[in-house]
Amino acid sequence: MGLLDERMTASQVKRERARMGKVLSILKAAYPDAKCALEYRTPYQLLAATILSAQCTDAMVNRVSPVLFARYPDARAMADGKMEEIERIIRSTGFYKNKAQSLKEMSQALLREYGGQVPASMEKLTRLRGVGRKTANVVLGNAFGIPGLVVDTHVGRLCHRMGFTEEQAPERVEAEMMELVPKSDWTIFSHLLISHGRAVCIARKAACERCPVAELCPKVDVPQFETRPPKSTGLTRRSSPARSRAPSK
Ligand code: SF4
Repeated sequence: MGLLDERMTASQVKRERARMGKVLSILKAAYPDAKCALEYRTPYQLLAATILSAQCTDAMVNRVSPVLFARYPDARAMADGKMEEIERIIRSTGFYKNKAQSLKEMSQALLREYGGQVPASMEKLTRLRGVGRKTANVVLGNAFGIPGLVVDTHVGRLCHRMGFTEEQAPERVEAEMMELVPKSDWTIFSHLLISHGRAVCIARKAACERCPVAELCPKVDVPQFETRPPKSTGLTRRSSPARSRAPSK
């Protein structure tokens, strides 16, 4: 029994799977080039770049990682690296002391346990320092072609607004989406929602008026009006969340 079965009947789950299928096919057409935005040449470099991407933009990681990988291209080089130098290179990604420690310890563990190679296994990946399910899914899906459903801030927000989940914890959102999205689409699902979250369903204001999936979306907790009043009048307009509005078919 899955998480969805706790709050939906079998026919509701079936309807939600069908709605998800339509959303996916529209987003695939809208974002045909959706892919991992991090730049890397090997599974190790993707793993390291994903660790750097915590609380940081992919663009900033892509500025830092070429410098880092020129100096430390693989697990062996990073494991022997000087902490001060690693910290200096990755400083602009934020939380650099913690991330440097993760990079070094993760690399040492790869050398010790897997001959310097990145294991293609959720269980083994999440035993490495600095690697949670999100990072592991990025690596599995993009470096190894093993379906991985990544729930980052964009994916979590869009799944909620589109009414596909009521969960907040990323692991529970992931578990529910794994029930709604065909396994072969798990990796692309995350790329599509991240692209859509950056271009249209933006955190501070969803652009529903130009959204290709608007007719399939209940717009849960999406303010329908600007919450800030026009300066000239000083009047306060209330936001009007459309929570729990049933999606049109
Ligand atoms: S209709 Fe609005 S809330 Fe729904 S996915 Fe599109 S932009 Fe986001």
